[in-house]
Amino acid sequence: MTSAPILSTSHLLGIEHLSVAEITGLLDLAETYAVLNRAQNKKTDVLKGRTLINMFFESSTRTQSSFELAGKRLGADVMNMSVKTSSVSKGETLIDTATTLNAMRPDILVVRHQDSGAAELLARKLDCCVVNAGDGSHEHPTQALLDALTIRRRGRAFEGLIVAICGDVAHSRVARSNIHLLLKMGARVRLVAPRTLLPADADRFGCEIHHDMKSGLAGADIVMMLRLQLERMSGAFVPSTREYFHFYGLDHKKLAYAKPGALVMHPGPMNRGVEIDSAVADDIEVSLIQEQVEMGVAIRMAVLDALARGLASGGRNAP
Ligand code: ASP
Repeated sequence: MTSAPILSTSHLLGIEHLSVAEITGLLDLAETYAVLNRAQNKKTDVLKGRTLINMFFESSTRTQSSFELAGKRLGADVMNMSVKTSSVSKGETLIDTATTLNAMRPDILVVRHQDSGAAELLARKLDCCVVNAGDGSHEHPTQALLDALTIRRRGRAFEGLIVAICGDVAHSRVARSNIHLLLKMGARVRLVAPRTLLPADADRFGCEIHHDMKSGLAGADIVMMLRLQLERMSGAFVPSTREYFHFYGLDHKKLAYAKPGALVMHPGPMNRGVEIDSAVADDIEVSLIQEQVEMGVAIRMAVLDALARGLASGGRNAP
């Protein structure tokens, strides 16, 4: 028996084009995987016989390992392509590399790439499902979904929720995906950053803009901190990391501007003492950071399951 479809397309490229029903469907399915992941036997056979390839052109700890675990727990054969030792280092293009892998008939390709639009390009060229695991500063859909799952599991409703996204918004795919998701679900989003770390068109995002933490955090339910994405910066965007921490680093003093009971999130990797103080990051009363990592596996299982349902009902590798 095939389970009901959740996604209307055979790829997950971003949050921008997902409907509220699709987002809610993925979160609901992920809830069941969050329960399974705490059980002794964490395996199912939803992806039995399927092949998943992880192709990461940028470094990753959480995303790559959680896609690997997610695929394995669902019973798929999982291959992690090591880009450093592949022919990419000999000058092979993204399309040629992906076409080669495609010929091995994977069912799902998970890709992270430094260029915005890379995942979409592959989705147009290849005939397997493509999941965007982060493309440049464009989107990181599974991060926004896991953040939403973490918030929802803490009993917070999205409607009217005030979320302050703070730091390097300009270079952050996490910020973009979260903005799309949170606004669709009825939350109020504030962007809190110096002018140099906001995108030029930030005023068109539908968010409130703040340049200081005091006004940006006032009354916020969720404070989401972002890393300074130095790898995407040409030149200096802040005078010094010490000064940046002074004005924008989240410590308990600045957190006190937010609503009592406000929760702190960070997609990782953290730069302690730059955008976040260890005392906040490690404070289990307020920090959701470890829970975000846990929900990352559940969300990725839900995404893979949802894509496999599409395959079962007529994709290239349909039985
Ligand atoms: N891990 C997230 C990403 O890949 C956030 C970060 O790198 O700062 O975008």
